[in-house]
Amino acid sequence: MSETPLENVVIIGSGPAGWSSAIYAARAQLNPVVYEGAITEENRMAGTLPLGQLALTSEVENFAGFPAGNLGGYLDSALPASRRGMMAPHGGEGVTGPELMELMRQQAVNFGTRVITDDIARVDFSQRPFRLFPSEGGELQAKCVIVATGASANWLGLESEHRFKNRGVSACAVCDGALPRFRNQELVVVGGGDSAVEEATYLTKFASRVHLIHRRDELRASKIMAQRAIDDPKVMIHFNATLEEVLGDDAKGVTGVRLGSTVAGGGETTLEVAGVFLAIGHTPNTAFLNGQLETNEKGYLVWKKHFRTNTSVEGVFAAGDVADDYYRQAISAAGTGCMAGLDAERFLAHG
Ligand SMILES: Cc1cc2nc3c(=O)[nH]c(=O)nc-3n(C[C@H](O)[C@H](O)[C@H](O)COP(=O)(O)OP(=O)(O)OC[C@H]3O[C@@H](n4cnc5c(N)ncnc54)[C@H](O)[C@@H]3O)c2cc1C
Repeated sequence: MSETPLENVVIIGSGPAGWSSAIYAARAQLNPVVYEGAITEENRMAGTLPLGQLALTSEVENFAGFPAGNLGGYLDSALPASRRGMMAPHGGEGVTGPELMELMRQQAVNFGTRVITDDIARVDFSQRPFRLFPSEGGELQAKCVIVATGASANWLGLESEHRFKNRGVSACAVCDGALPRFRNQELVVVGGGDSAVEEATYLTKFASRVHLIHRRDELRASKIMAQRAIDDPKVMIHFNATLEEVLGDDAKGVTGVRLGSTVAGGGETTLEVAGVFLAIGHTPNTAFLNGQLETNEKGYLVWKKHFRTNTSVEGVFAAGDVADDYYRQAISAAGTGCMAGLDAERFLAHG
C-alpha cells in the first residue's frame, strides 16, 4: 500500500494570493505544493480555471510595477541597456492578466514550488496533519494549509453577456472603468446594492452617463449610498428594469442593451451604451471546505487574529478574495498571499 504523502504546506488556489504565498513559502524552504485547480468545463463556466480571475481579463493597469505608456524616456534615464530585456513581456504595453499570472506562477516554480493541476474537492481539518482529497482521487496530508481559492463574480447567465466579456462587459468597475473603451461613453451598471451604487458613482469619473439598472422599485443600498446615486446628475436609475440582452457586434464589442420590465405592461427599452458592469455580488469559492472554517454572513472566510491570516482552524490560513469582501484587487490578494506565506512559515517553526 502506498503511503499518503505528508506535505509541509499545501496552497489551494492559483490567483495572485496563491502564487505570492507559494513564492514566500518556497523561499523559506518549505517545499510547498500548489493545487492550481482543474481544467474542466465546470470550472470554465464558473470562471475558476487555473491562474484565477486575472486570466479572464485583458490589460491590468493597476498592479504596481507594470507601467504602460511610452517608457522610452524613462528607460533611457533609469535602466541600463543590459536590463531592458527584463521589460520584454510588458515593456511599454503594461501587462495583461494572463501574462501577469504566468509570470507569478513561473516565479513560484523557480523557487521550487510544485504545481498540481487539479482541484481539492474535499478537506478534513478535524485532525492534524490535515487531510486533503484531490478531485482526481487519492489523498494527501499537510501540516499547514493556505486557502487562496478566490471569489467568483456573479453573472446573470445571459448568452450575450458571456459573448461580450472583456469586450465591454465587466464585473469590476475599479479594474476596468478607466479603460479607453469606456471613457466619455454611456455605461450600464446592473444591481441595486451598495456595491452597484459604488460602482455606478465610481464610473461617473469616466463615463458621460451611467444607467443603473435595478429590478426592484427601490435600491437595496444603504440610505446614504442610495441618496448619493439619486443626487448624482450623471447617474440615471432605471427601477423595475432587467437586463435581457447585451447588444453588440464582433468589431465594436458592446453597443447597447435591451431592458425588460418587472411591471406588467412595462415593455422593453433599448439603450445605446459602450459598457455593461455587473454588480450583483460575488460567491467565495469555499464549497469544498464544507463549513469547516468560520465564514462571515456573506460566506467569506474570517481572519481570527487582527492583521494575521489565521482562520478558525489553527494551521489553516486564508489569503486573497476568499477572505476579502471589501477590496477584491489583485495587489491586495498578492499582499495577503505574502502574509499567509509568512504566517505558515512561522506556524511551522513554532507550532
Ligand atoms: C474580469 C476581471 C477583471 C479584473 N481586473 C482586475 C484588475 O485590472 N486589477 C485588479 O487588481 N484586480 C482585477 N480583478 C480582480 C482580481 O482578479 C482579483 O481580486 C484577484 O484575482 C483575486 O486573487 P485571488 O488569488 O484571491 O483569487 P483568484 O484570482 O480568484 O484565483 C483563485 C483560483 O483558485 C483556484 N481554485 C478555486 N477553488 C479551488 C479548489 N477547490 N482547488 C484548487 N484550486 C481552486 C481557481 O483556479 C481559481 O481561479 C479582476 C477580476 C475580474 C473578474
